[in-house]
Amino acid sequence: LTILGLESSCDDTGAAVVRGTPGDATVLSSVVEGQNSLHEAFGGVVPEIAARAHAERIDVVVRHALERAGISLSDLDGVAVTAGPGLIGGVMSGVMCAKGIAIGAGLPLIGVNHLAGHALTPRLTDGVAFPYLMLLVSGGHCQFLLVRGPEDYSRLGGTIDDAPGEAFDKTARLLALPQPGGPSVEAAALDGDPKRFRFPRPLLDRPGCDMSFSGLKTALLRTRDEVMDDNRLKASDRVDLCAGFQAAVVDVLVEKTRRALAIYLQDAPAVPVLAVAGGVAANKAIRAGLETVCDQMSVQFTAPPLALCTDNGAMIAYAGLERFAGGAQDDMTLAARPRWPLDQAAAGMLGGGK
Ligand code: ATP
Ligand code: FE
Repeated sequence: LTILGLESSCDDTGAAVVRGTPGDATVLSSVVEGQNSLHEAFGGVVPEIAARAHAERIDVVVRHALERAGISLSDLDGVAVTAGPGLIGGVMSGVMCAKGIAIGAGLPLIGVNHLAGHALTPRLTDGVAFPYLMLLVSGGHCQFLLVRGPEDYSRLGGTIDDAPGEAFDKTARLLALPQPGGPSVEAAALDGDPKRFRFPRPLLDRPGCDMSFSGLKTALLRTRDEVMDDNRLKASDRVDLCAGFQAAVVDVLVEKTRRALAIYLQDAPAVPVLAVAGGVAANKAIRAGLETVCDQMSVQFTAPPLALCTDNGAMIAYAGLERFAGGAQDDMTLAARPRWPLDQAAAGMLGGGK
């Protein structure tokens, strides 16, 4: 199967061509056009600007993806598109473009849940077999997903407020470090003493896999103000604050991963695997912590390459390939959905945490 995938749910316009079968596919091309420069001045993604940029760029991005793959529309077996969750204007741009291609080229249309795209990526990159445990940690997401099949997900828990990436970014802002905060806080933490400031480890005292990161930011702000002298933050205090903050995030993620793995192992998977995805998975301290728990619990650890962890069209093409191979297909009534939990039951109970 050769599938074209379109992604436009946040601030990246992506298109890609993926070829193969479920669990054995290759990326023929993947083009991602980011929008950082457009939103920079506003300190966050502006939905109207994002929607317009997606609408303006998606046709070109699709053309480039086809060119780079060296194929034409007639070589495709289907067109997959993110139908949600995400910023509705952007999702609509993608869905309309995909419908146009589907009608124009007489191709099947496959709507894909953006989170399924992230969750199935380890199958695209490493051919990981079901069931596996997925930890999605990025600027917008933080959740444990037990992935049993392309349409079978259980959400074991996740953040009840901020995502860790957001917490890294806010920490960087509070400490006058450059954005994105993850890499700059991580670099500063290398020079700091993680034990000097003891930040809270929220929800560790409670059972389950839910997490909370917003209190950490408040604690950090309070401690920063205590150590600041005449509105100045000493370099040595800054690195210690970063180290203390990162240590708290690592502890929470590691302990909650231990609990999620315990639930997952009840399924008695033949080859147990933990896959992490999302920009935060780039953090070496977090990665090392997760690898240690996996070692202790005899679980394989895998992290897809970063370019396929952040938003891209290839994961959507691949998720579409899995759905289509399983007999799923959409028609022209496919709608863009701002909210679309992967796991309906859990979503109803837990809410929040995208
Ligand atoms: P999403 O795609 O889930 O809606 P996003 O686009 O913000 O959200 P990503 O692009 O996957 O997510 O990741 C970006 C986030 O990852 C940022 O918040 C960034 O600070 C964080 N990040 C990147 N590198 C690191 C690192 N080394 N340590 C910690 N966090 C990091
Ligand atoms: Fe995403």
